[in-house]
Amino acid sequence: MIWYPYAQMKTMPPPIKITDANGVYLYTEDTRLIDSVSSWWSVIHGYRHPVLDEAVRTQLAHFSHVMLGGLTHEAVEKLSDKLESWLPGDLNYCFFSDSGSVAVEVALKMALQFQVNRGSRRKTVLALEHAYHGDTFKTMEVGDDDDYHFAFGEKQGVIHIPTEIPALETAFRMYGEQLSCFIVEPLLQGAGGMRMYELPFLERARALCDQYDVLLVFDEVATGFGRTGHRFVADLVCPDILVLGKALTGGYIGHAVTVANRKVFDGFYSDDPSHALMHGPTFMGNALACSVALASIELFESERYLTKIQRITAVTQREMADFSDPRVKEVRILGGCVCIEVHDAQTLHGFQQFAYRRGVFSRPFLNYMYAMVPYIIREDELIQVLRTMKDWFRQ
Ligand SMILES: *Cc1c(COP(=O)(O)O)cnc(C)c1O
Repeated sequence: MIWYPYAQMKTMPPPIKITDANGVYLYTEDTRLIDSVSSWWSVIHGYRHPVLDEAVRTQLAHFSHVMLGGLTHEAVEKLSDKLESWLPGDLNYCFFSDSGSVAVEVALKMALQFQVNRGSRRKTVLALEHAYHGDTFKTMEVGDDDDYHFAFGEKQGVIHIPTEIPALETAFRMYGEQLSCFIVEPLLQGAGGMRMYELPFLERARALCDQYDVLLVFDEVATGFGRTGHRFVADLVCPDILVLGKALTGGYIGHAVTVANRKVFDGFYSDDPSHALMHGPTFMGNALACSVALASIELFESERYLTKIQRITAVTQREMADFSDPRVKEVRILGGCVCIEVHDAQTLHGFQQFAYRRGVFSRPFLNYMYAMVPYIIREDELIQVLRTMKDWFRQ
């Protein structure tokens, strides 16, 4: 049998069986649902986009995968060239992997070994409270979400701070000389509760990282490709290492990339074999994933996705302007993300079924009801999603 994610198998309701998907819609045997979650925030172009389908088919006619150990191919070369020119600053060195968690592992490994290679003993990682960076062990350690990882208490060598500048300054004053890196989900902390914070925090973090010679790592697995309204938050404040996943392939195939800047890359570039980065996921640089990722980026540019996202933000703000309820703690909107946080998680019990009956697939968690829609959503479809969320409180 299938062991489902984040679920108590004994009590979980039966999952909804999907038979087809197209545009923003998921189809079951007898109904269709707008996917307000974009399949865990990844399907930014919707399902079965003709351009992306074609990219996969074209590559499939050659081969679907060859390993990257000692081999290379056009799809991965083109994608890495594209990322090199598209990403800000000198974020030019692309290490591919098969999932966001692994890509964060790679980023942390890079940061630690960067220090070792230059004879430094810095090992401590600075991270944020409510951080989520994946489900593998090191990412769980830097993460801070008891609801996801309650079974594993030990957190060695990781310091968590809130997204407040005084706490940031204190942390650097106290531990600055020990830190290997500071890892953040910039502007929007997703799985930790769709928490939003301001740019000056990141600007100050960049300055302190420079002052204390600490690497700044942006985990943009969730925020990348427009979710915050910016193409990447890295366009505003440039990190030393950038991690992309989820929407990288338009949600078609699991893939991720850890992109390092020149300084980090040079820390490994030497005649000493022991300075090499010893990592190599079997499916890194998968040809189908790279082809569809390149097509996804080209679509993002040619179809002016940032404008689409601005529309989503504007419609969301308009629809939420008149909404309030005593059970609601806060409504947060940023780019293509809206979150209604309630005081008591009980308030959201039954909402998923309610949304289903209204033709919307939603997956609230803890105290958070949210939408992260595919960017190709039409205005009336977006309104249907937002009204479904509001109407739950008005029945
Ligand atoms: C989803 C997510 C990850 C993990 O990605 P997977 O592909 O699920 O391993 C890491 N960081 C952030 C910020 C995420 O949202």
